Amino acid sequence: MSGRYVDLHCHSTASDGTLPPAQVVRLAVERGLSALALTDHDTIDGVAEAAQEAQRLGLDFLPGIEISAEFPHPGTLHLLGYGVDPHSQVLRDLTTTLLAGRDRRNPKIIAKLNELGVAVSMQEWEGEAKGNVLGRPQLAAVLHRKGYVSSIKDAFNKYLGQDAPAYADKERLTPQRAIEMVLESGGVPVLAHPIQLRTDNDAQLERIVKDLVDHGLGGIEVIHSDQDADNVQKYDALARRFGLLRTGGSDFHGANKQIELGIANGRRIPREWFDALAAAAATAGGRAQR
Ligand code: AMP
Ligand code: ZN
Ligand code: FE
Ligand code: FE
Repeated sequence: MSGRYVDLHCHSTASDGTLPPAQVVRLAVERGLSALALTDHDTIDGVAEAAQEAQRLGLDFLPGIEISAEFPHPGTLHLLGYGVDPHSQVLRDLTTTLLAGRDRRNPKIIAKLNELGVAVSMQEWEGEAKGNVLGRPQLAAVLHRKGYVSSIKDAFNKYLGQDAPAYADKERLTPQRAIEMVLESGGVPVLAHPIQLRTDNDAQLERIVKDLVDHGLGGIEVIHSDQDADNVQKYDALARRFGLLRTGGSDFHGANKQIELGIANGRRIPREWFDALAAAAATAGGRAQR
């Protein structure tokens, strides 16, 4: 398909989105996008279904994953891996590790909520997740349904956000290790939404990016729903300086967030960025197999 715009960052029910993978693909087609990458948290379980539907509808598709890495509070560092090989043992080890970290964290969040007088259980969270990866947005949806909060956003502000009382951290990989595992899985590692690093100044941001580049980072998410025009310009310049691929995405989660597929803070993501990323992923896959 030859439309001019794409979306390289979105979530399905395989993690904490509200649309099944095939429906995300259908929505992409409805919105006139020509390519999509699915980037669920910690899993590629949605990728096969999405790829099949994309092929059926003639939408170009790249498998992806989003990994939360270690980073000092109040920032967060998320790494996107594009074109990872679903059959690679490294990728399986990676997702097993990430899901185990979640499994240890989640009951801590429930215990904290219970201590705060919020009657909610692991069973209710699991019911909302329907066998998929448990993320905080689904728990937020449960809290909303039970009337404890006025919205998903309110659930994060009151209980689940990083600075809120029911927050619990999960063990994470270091960014360097996450990059290494994406590379070993035949994928291209990309720094997601650099705005969320919450760096104090540009010099600090540059030092962080340089260190990641030294460890094999291949790209940077220039366009994202949380990034304004100044941010986009800054990250675009960083990409050029370090010879990084540019990527962009909405971070669509379905009804869990007020974000439209294919649109990131009013911007669209050019098709050329998908083509360069797909080409790099093909090369990375070849390297990893040798
Ligand atoms: P988890 O992977 O379970 O830690 O949940 C992460 C998800 O929660 C991501 O999709 C985030 O975008 C979402 N999230 C984190 N903080 C907030 C917030 N303050 N408001 C809304 N969503 C959030
Ligand atoms: Zn999410
Ligand atoms: Fe993220
Ligand atoms: Fe995301």
